Amino acid sequence: MKIGFIGLGIMGRPMASHLKAAGHEVFIPERASLTQELRDAMTVLPDAAAVAEAAEVVILMLPDTPDVQAVLFGPKGIEPALRKGQLVIDMSSISPTETKGFAERVGRKGCDYLDAPVSGGEVGAKQASLTIMVGGPEAAFQRALPLFQAMGKNITLVGESNGAGQTCKVANQIVVALTIEAVAEALVFASKAGADPAKVRQALMGGLATSRILELHGERMIKRTFDPGFRIRLHQKDLNLALQSAKDLGMALPHTASAQQLFSACVAEGHADLDHSAMVHALENLAAHKV
Ligand code: NAD
Repeated sequence: MKIGFIGLGIMGRPMASHLKAAGHEVFIPERASLTQELRDAMTVLPDAAAVAEAAEVVILMLPDTPDVQAVLFGPKGIEPALRKGQLVIDMSSISPTETKGFAERVGRKGCDYLDAPVSGGEVGAKQASLTIMVGGPEAAFQRALPLFQAMGKNITLVGESNGAGQTCKVANQIVVALTIEAVAEALVFASKAGADPAKVRQALMGGLATSRILELHGERMIKRTFDPGFRIRLHQKDLNLALQSAKDLGMALPHTASAQQLFSACVAEGHADLDHSAMVHALENLAAHKV
């Protein structure tokens, strides 16, 4: 297929590379930050609109809701270039509510829209083992399935209404934030009590408390490797979506709110662009002890 890929950051770069490796033609928009490797592998076009003109399927992997809005409908956006029969797939993690509006507007151009955010992080993107949570019409899902299979493993059509994928992703981010908090709290506790945190992590990995987050993020907390990965500022964006949606629904998310406050404490220390495992800093400050 002819695929346009817009948003070539930590996640987008390996995802677009897998599509290319699967035999698709991949068009990307010019951007100063493009690596030479990407320039050599893909077809670089002047802007997003030119990419939409060249492609059958346009994939977005952008940071936040306003970025998706700008690329779709902004002054240099793709909307005027869209034509009947094209498929737009937004794989960014953004607002479920705004997603419905974006899908309607793209639908008025005769195009299908899928929201298809992912989980699995940079490692999952590189290994093409992402979990992909999709909202949108079944027929569009079937059309996109070979592309999803080139980038991921656990692929679920969560619902046929747009926004269903994004809602699922918000739920995912609640679990991830609270698990990072639990792992960080446990390691700070064990270390302050005099146990070797590396041994504690190793022991817990054999029992009921095991998780990929204990494995990956626990290791980062112990080795102090906080290069992103997934930036704290992006996880804050996702928890804001959770807290705003909860407010709209008239319900409480007490531990999501406290995890968000711990991320805010990290941001106050200048850590917004560290990996989200750096949440451990906030708990270390409260305990007056470093893991
Ligand atoms: P990133 O900041 O590394 O990459 C975003 C890319 O989009 C950058 O290269 C930026 O230059 C580009 N971009 C921004 N505005 C643009 C525009 N107008 N036109 C073209 N390109 C533009 O972010 P990321 O970590 O790759 O995350 C992307 C999305 O995936 C986010 O919504 C994030 O929440 C989600 N996500 C990230 C991870 C992770 O572990 N990093 C995991 C799952 C989901």
